Amino acid sequence: MTRRNWLRGAAVTGGVAIGSAGLNAVAPALFPETPAFDPNHSLWMRAQAPHNPPLTTDAEADVVVIGAGYTGLSAAYHIRKRSPRKSVIVVEARGAGNGASGRNGAMLLPNVANEYLRLVSPPELHKRIYDLTVESMRNLEALAARASIPDAIDHTGALEAFASEESAGEGREYVEKTRRLGIPVRYLDREGTAALIGTRAYAASVFDPNAGHVHPMKLVRVVKEAAEAEGVRIYEDSSVRQVEEGAAIRLHMAGGQTVKARAIVLATNAFTSKLGYFRNTIAPVYNYVAVTRPLTGPELASTGWAGRMPFNDSRKLVHYLGRTADGRIHIGGGPAPYGWNNGVRERSDGQAATILEEELLRLYPSLRGVGFEMAWNGMVDMTLDWAPLVGSTGTHNNVFYGLGYCGHGVNLTFLFGRIIADLEAGGERAWAEYPFVNRRAPYLPNEPFRWLGIRATSLYYRFTDR
Ligand SMILES: Cc1cc2nc3c(=O)[nH]c(=O)nc-3n(C[C@H](O)[C@H](O)[C@H](O)COP(=O)(O)OP(=O)(O)OC[C@H]3O[C@@H](n4cnc5c(N)ncnc54)[C@H](O)[C@@H]3O)c2cc1C
Repeated sequence: MTRRNWLRGAAVTGGVAIGSAGLNAVAPALFPETPAFDPNHSLWMRAQAPHNPPLTTDAEADVVVIGAGYTGLSAAYHIRKRSPRKSVIVVEARGAGNGASGRNGAMLLPNVANEYLRLVSPPELHKRIYDLTVESMRNLEALAARASIPDAIDHTGALEAFASEESAGEGREYVEKTRRLGIPVRYLDREGTAALIGTRAYAASVFDPNAGHVHPMKLVRVVKEAAEAEGVRIYEDSSVRQVEEGAAIRLHMAGGQTVKARAIVLATNAFTSKLGYFRNTIAPVYNYVAVTRPLTGPELASTGWAGRMPFNDSRKLVHYLGRTADGRIHIGGGPAPYGWNNGVRERSDGQAATILEEELLRLYPSLRGVGFEMAWNGMVDMTLDWAPLVGSTGTHNNVFYGLGYCGHGVNLTFLFGRIIADLEAGGERAWAEYPFVNRRAPYLPNEPFRWLGIRATSLYYRFTDR
C-alpha cells in the first residue's frame, strides 16, 4: 500500500540478471553515458528566477555542489550555516530547479518513500524518522516565511486515498498502530474523504495533518535565496563533464574550465550515473504531470474539492493531485517509463496525457471537456528497495551525496542537505542510527537486463492497476 511501490517487483525480475558479472564489469565502456539536460516545460517554471551567470574561469572552493535542485541548494545552505568559513560553490547545468525540483507533483510529505504509510523500521525508529522529517519541514516553512517569495508552502495536510476496501483495511491498521506511537494521522471513511476532496471514488483515506502543498519552483527560489544569503556562489548554465577524484578533487566543466575542491556534493538526482556514480543503484524513471487552465468558480464547485488539500492514491503506478492558488487542478503519475542505459533524454509518452485525463474524469466527471492546458515530465530516482541514501564515497571519502528519493523528495531533500553538511564537517555520529545514512543499497544489474526487468514490471503494474 505504499505510494510508489511499482518498481519493487523489478528486484525479482532484475535479480535473475545479477549473475551477469562479466558484462557488468565492461558495461560502462560498452554503453557510454551521455549527460543531457532537457528544458523544463512545467507550469512551475514560470516562477523561475533569472539565471545567474555561468562559470567562465577556473575556480576553487572548499566544497563544490553539483546540481541546484532542492538537495544541492539545501546542502550548500547548511554547509555555510554550519561552517561559515568554508567557501561553497554550486554549479548547475541549466537553471536552478531545472530537474525534478522544478517539475514535481507539489506534495510536501513527511517520512521517506519506503516508510510512507507503512511500518518498516522498528516502530520507535519509524516514529523518530517521522518526527525528524516533520521537524525539517517546519524548518523549511520557517525559511519560506522569511523569504522574499510568498506562497511557496501551504500547510494544508494531505491524504493518501484507497481505491479498494482491502487497501482501506491496511490504511486503518496503519492508523491504529501509528497513533499508538503518537503519530497524528487520522483514518477517514468514504464520506470523510469526499468531504475533503469531493470525489467519492475512494473507499477511505489516511489524513496526515503535517503534510502540505508547495509551489515547487517558488520553493527552489526560497532555498536558493537562503543559500546565497549565507554566501554561497551559484553558477547556472555550467555543467560538469567529469569528476577527477583525489584529496583535492578536480571537476572538468563542459565549458573547458577546471574547478578544484576539497570535497564535492553530488546533488544530481536521476542524472548521477552520467558522472560515473551510482550506476547500479539508481534507475531514472520518467513521471508525467498535466494541469488544467484556471477553473471557473462553478467548475471548481462542481468537483466538491473545497480546499486545496493534495492527495495521492495507493496504486502501484500512483496518481497524485493538487490544486494551485489560481484554481487549476494538476494531476501526475501513471506510466513511469525507463530509458535504456539510465536514459535522461526527454521522452514523450503519447499516452500519458490521455491516461491522466481518464483518471481526472474518473474522479471528477463534471470536468469533462475542460482538458489540460499543459503537460510535462520529470525524472524520478528510484532505488530497488524504495529507500533513499545519503552519505559519502570516493577514494578520499570526500564525495558526498543525497539521492534515491523515489518520488518522495520535496521535503526530504532539505533534511538530506543538513545531513550532508554534518557529514562533511565530520559529524556522522549524530546520524548513525538512521538507516538511510551511508547504507549499501541493493544492486541494479546492467543493460540489457535492467531495461527488460523494469519494463516488464512496469507493464505488469499497468495491467494489475487497471
Ligand atoms: C514528475 C515528478 C513528480 C514528483 N512529485 C513529488 C511529490 O509530489 N512529492 C515529493 O515529495 N516528491 C516528488 N517528486 C520527487 C522530488 O521532486 C525529487 O525527489 C526532488 O526534487 C529531488 O531534488 P534534487 O535536488 O535531488 O534533484 P533535482 O531537482 O533533479 O536536481 C538535480 C540537478 O542537478 C543538475 N545536474 C545534473 N547533472 C549535472 C551536471 N553534470 N553538472 C551540473 N548540474 C547537473 C540538474 O540540471 C538538476 O537541476 C517528484 C518528481 C517528479 C519528477
